[in-house]
Parts: sequence; C-alpha cells; structure tokens
Amino acid sequence: MTTDSTVQVLLPLALDDAYTYLVPDGMTLAPGDYVRVPLGPRLVIGVVWDTGGEVPDTARLRAVSEKYETPAMPELHRQFINWVAQYYLEQPGSVLRMALRVPEALGAPRQQIAYRASGQQPQKMTAQRTRVLEVASDGLARRTPELAQEAGVGASVVKGLVKAGALEAVTLPAMAAFAEPELNHNRVELSDSQTLAAADLRKQVTGRGFSVSLLDGVTGSGKTEVYFEAMAAALAQGRQVLLLLPEIALTGPFLRRVEERFGVPPAEWHSAVRPRERERVWRGVASGEARIVVGARSALFLPWQRPGLIVVDEEHEPAFKQAEGVNYHARDMAVLYGSLGGFPVILASATPSMESLWNAGKGRYGHVRLEARYGKAQLPDISLLDMRAEKMPSGEWMAPALTQAVAETLGKGDQALLFLNRRGYAPLTLCRTCGFRLACPQCASWLVEHRFRGRLACHHCGHEEPVPDACPSCGSENTLVPCGPGVERLAEEATQRFPDAKIAILSSDLSRGVLLRDTLQAIARGDYNLIIGTQLVAKGHHFPQLTLAGVIDADLALETTDPRAGERTWQMLAQVSGRAGRGDKTGRALVQTYMPDHPLMQALAAGDRDGFLAHESDIRERAMLPPFGRMAGIIISGSDRDETGRFAQSLLRTVPDAKDVQVLGPAPAPLSMVRGRHRFRYLVMCARDVDIQAYLRQWLGGIKPRGSLRLAIDVDPYSFL
Ligand code: ADP
Ligand code: ZN
Ligand code: ZN
Repeated sequence: MTTDSTVQVLLPLALDDAYTYLVPDGMTLAPGDYVRVPLGPRLVIGVVWDTGGEVPDTARLRAVSEKYETPAMPELHRQFINWVAQYYLEQPGSVLRMALRVPEALGAPRQQIAYRASGQQPQKMTAQRTRVLEVASDGLARRTPELAQEAGVGASVVKGLVKAGALEAVTLPAMAAFAEPELNHNRVELSDSQTLAAADLRKQVTGRGFSVSLLDGVTGSGKTEVYFEAMAAALAQGRQVLLLLPEIALTGPFLRRVEERFGVPPAEWHSAVRPRERERVWRGVASGEARIVVGARSALFLPWQRPGLIVVDEEHEPAFKQAEGVNYHARDMAVLYGSLGGFPVILASATPSMESLWNAGKGRYGHVRLEARYGKAQLPDISLLDMRAEKMPSGEWMAPALTQAVAETLGKGDQALLFLNRRGYAPLTLCRTCGFRLACPQCASWLVEHRFRGRLACHHCGHEEPVPDACPSCGSENTLVPCGPGVERLAEEATQRFPDAKIAILSSDLSRGVLLRDTLQAIARGDYNLIIGTQLVAKGHHFPQLTLAGVIDADLALETTDPRAGERTWQMLAQVSGRAGRGDKTGRALVQTYMPDHPLMQALAAGDRDGFLAHESDIRERAMLPPFGRMAGIIISGSDRDETGRFAQSLLRTVPDAKDVQVLGPAPAPLSMVRGRHRFRYLVMCARDVDIQAYLRQWLGGIKPRGSLRLAIDVDPYSFL
C-alpha cells in the first residue's frame, strides 16, 4: 500500500470519479496540473484533482505519461467545476470538458516560422517568383500562406524561394502578447446619476469581497459606461475582468467600444473566434496576462488566474442558459463563481429577470438604478394597436396605423424597425386541397419555409428539404400555401408598401457571424432605413437614427406553456421598443396585439414596470414558480415510443415522498419527438428551501437507463418543450 506516489486525475469524460495514476520517477505533480494519461488504448488530457490517497494495489495502476508546463488550474477554478457539477447533477468530468476545449493551449506554444527577403537573388527567376520577392521587399516577415496570398501565388513558389536562399526564415513570437489596459484612456464624463451608480459599484470592487449588484437602468441610460468604471477599479487591483454577453450581442461595435474605453482590444471569446486566437486567449487567461475578456457564457470556464469582477450584461437573457450538454446558466454560475472566489459580480439589464429583482428586493443583491436615458434621449412612447378592430386582408400583417407610421418615419429620413420573432417565410405550409401539413420526418414539428433559400427547414433538428412542387399526400400541384408570417414574408409585404425603402433583414439564419456584423454596422451608418428582424434586433444595439419600433405580433411569446412567458414577452417588447429614440430624436413604439386589455400590455403602454412586476410576481408566488420556488425538468427520451413511455412511467414508483415537493408527470413533452427520439417529461417543483439536488439524487441517482433510453435532468429549466 502506498500513499505518496499516486494522483487522482479528473478526465474530461462523463465518469463518476477521478482515476488514480502512478507518478513516474522524476515527475512531481500537484493538484491543478494538466497531464496526459493512458486510458484504454488512448492517451487523454486530464487535470490532477488530488494527490496521494490509499491505493490497495499499485501494481495494477498505470502511470501518468506527461505533465504539461502550463500554469496549473487554480484551486478556485477546480472548486468552481466541482460546484457546477453538484448543482446541475452532472459528473465533474463533463464540466471539466468545458474547461479543456482548447487542448492546443497546453504545453509550449508552437513557434511560428515566417520569411523575409534575404537579399540574395535566386538563380532562376519567374514572374511568380518576382511577385513574391516584390511583396517581401519591404523587409517584413510573413508566414508562407500570407506571403503566397499577397503575391497571388501558390505556397510552393514561396517554398522554392526558401530553398533557393532568396527568402530567409525568422521565428516569430509564438503568440502575440496582451497589452495592458489603460484605465483612464477614454473616460467619459458621467452624469450625476451615473456618477452615483459608478461610485456604488466601484465600492463593491475595492471592498474586495463577494457581492452582487443589479445594475438596473432603462435602455440607453449609460449602464455600459457605468460598469466600465467598476471594471477599471478591478483592473487597477491587478485582477482580471470577465464581461459576459449573450453570444449574439458580441458584436464588432460593442468590442470596439471596450477598446475605445481601455485603449487595447479586449480578448474575445465566442464561437466565431478562430482556433489560434482561442489558444491565445486561453493561454492569456491562464497566465493572467489577458486582463479583459469579453465573452459568451463558456468564457466562465477559461482557467481564470486572478478573477476580480464578472459583469453579466443583458442578465435577463435566457440565452445564458446552455441548452445542451451541461445545462448551466451562465448568470447564476457567475454569481456562484464570485461567491466562491470572494469577488463582486454585476448584473446589468434594462429589463432585469424576476429572479434578480427578487434577490435585490430581499437585499441579497445591491440595487443600482439609472432611471433616465443619458443626455437628451427620451424613452419612446408606446401605443397599442388593437388588432381585433382591424380587418386584415389575408397575407397582410401590418395594420394601417403602423404602415402610416413607417411611411412618416422614412419620410423624415429616420430609420424604422419592424419586429417579428419568427424566422423564415412562413411557420406552416399546408395543402389547400387535402389539408396536409408539411412536417419534419424526425420531429413532431412543422417545417418552416425559408423562401430565400428555397428550402423547408425544421427548427429543432436542422433537417432541410426543398419545397415540393406537389402535395406529398394527395399529389395535387400548386396547392401548397404558406400560413402565417415569418420575417421573410413580412419583408415581402414591406417591399410592396415601401418600394423605395432600403430593407435589412436581421435573423439568425440569414446573418451569421461576419455578415451579421457587417449588416449591423451598415444599419448604424444609415445604409438601410427599414430593419426587419427577429429577437436578434432586441439585443442592445445602438442605432441613433432609429425612431420607430413596430411590433407585429406582441402576443406570440405569451401563447406558450413556459412559466416565464409573461416575463419574456415584457422583456422582449420593452427591449424592442427601447431601440427607438436612442439619439437626439424622440422615438415611439407601436405594438400590435389581440389582447390590448391584458395587464401586461396595459403596463407596457403606461410604462409601468412596477405594475407589471407586481402582477407577474403575484401569479408566480401563487403557483410557487421561480423565484418563489425551485424547478427541475426531467426529460426521458428513447427511439421506441412505447418503451420510452413505460420507462418514464416506471420512475413514478420510486418518487420520494417529501414535504413541499410536487412531481408533475410523466407526460408526453410538448415537443414529443426530436431527431426520431420520443420524449416524455416530468416537472419537479418545490419550495425554495428544499434541496432539490438532494431530492433528485435520491430519486434518480441510481437509475441507469438501458439501450436507447436516456434520462436528462435540467435544473432551473428555461425550456419546457
Ligand atoms: P445602456 O448600456 O444603458 O443601454 P449605453 O451605455 O449604451 O446605455 O449608453 C447609451 C448611449 O449614450 C451610448 O452611445 C453612450 O456612449 C452614450 N452615453 C452614455 N453615458 C454617457 C456619458 N456620460 N457621456 C457620453 N456619452 C454617454
Ligand atoms: Zn394535398
Ligand atoms: Zn426536425
């Protein structure tokens, strides 16, 4: 038996425990070290989670094969990973996997070889060689692909010149360093209320303990400028700062704003960042050199060395909840991280979540408010358009009052925005003759027509097919008709009404990555005057020329089974309306609804947020919904419907009896099939003081679904499909 020459290594796999390995002679390992270990026939990367420990039989153990000279994962980060796993009932290895997404960042950085002109002429000259040498004549070193591209030749021409001695190799620093932020680079002069808010947040940072502050300010009130001050304070302490945003809000203009304020570009972390840059950011965070990271939710799992502040902007966004794999909520885990690490967290929003407002109301979170827009900008006037009174011709969605308002706005040279939270052309296509509806072959959902691409698409599994000429059921030709509007169809209507308008469509499937950034910039420049978009447009963009926001169907999000439907609708409508009038001109919003008497619509039109919140929290409190109670979803899926249903039913037998816990289900999920898998759901609801994790562990901990069956637990669910 030995205790000193073994380590427990956590592997980024869904395993219950860390595995024990021998430490080979001459290697010293401490918790947090990144290592490579044998697992079956493979070598895998893992992290030393613990050292020593009793092992009955070391003869059967295999040895660590490599230790990486990378700064060890800090203890705080390991704790964080363990806590996330605990909270979401995941194996720590599954959480670790999110922290090991950039294996290239371990070990010494690969050096880069670049070439510059040596001054020596090659014996044989060709036109292509001449071009390369011309490019290289400025003396700068370039990597082969860059040199080849600039000269418009193939890489082999460059290689030939290297061989001939006309180009000489130089070693570039492996990774460009991160520049130190300049804390006073471009400080704006804050208004009185902003100054107070900033002082409050700065105090949290200099106090050097854990705290959460809800920065609650109307759209355009200058929340960004205010939390920049808190960031500066954390940077002044030599700490690192993470600014989390919903992925879609991580746009060029926003990143440039951070750069303008601090004089250096922030490290960027989101799905569109290229592998080499990811590696650079990962290394920079691990070494502590990257001081400001602006990132999407997964940036939480970068190996933070000296975290000093996390800002979660647009904290109300459900997009912070990860929908697959580990179902973590980045806002909630940012708060957890701050409490483990003893540093402050700032949650910013113009439409805070009920959860955060509740915490602020209870005094757990500080509540920092900005009540007015900055400068001359006024909040827009919001009016409801009662659609019950409109006789809309089929295929038209804009009421006359909205059409007129758009015409006036465009006539003045301003920009108008039309919001409809539906991608594609039409949400449903059916046959006029037999009534057949086009559905996804693998999901219980209708196919959505995307006319620009000429395809029908399933929004749940990504299945696509061309639009058929004839009805697949009765064979009639030209009888398929679109039902209901999507943004593409709305754009068609708008083009007819405003033939001279320059229309931009913003929808996640039309405008990915770079294209989206370009379009947003073009809108800000004024290249477009009519913007038609899905919820993509509701995310914090700043278009100074925009003075009218029209909401096509305000009721859409209310018609779901989601317990947060009211809150979501409120947030979305308030955010969309808030796009209008951010510059010097006043804005207005027109909201088309069939429920103008609904308390939510009434409160929206009156600008009465507190009224809405009072109404909403009353409903939630009575139903024990968050934040008044806790919830977890349990999704059982499998390829055979009967078998899956039986398995779901069988779980009922072992439901533990507990005070203040209610188990609803099993019921077929509203989305009863996805990718050929049948789905059933339970919903567990309980009082706030119940340890829902312990309850779920007791109930489901020992259950091992067989064959195609799966059981997924979603703590604090945001999806109820
Ligand atoms: P929010 O984040 O609350 O929506 P922003 O911080 O984006 O608001 O501010 C809205 C606009 O007003 C931005 O263009 C911002 O640069 C400007 N602004 C806000 N506060 C100031 C200030 N104190 N001085 C100059 N410009 C400001
Ligand atoms: Zn038909
Ligand atoms: Zn599908």
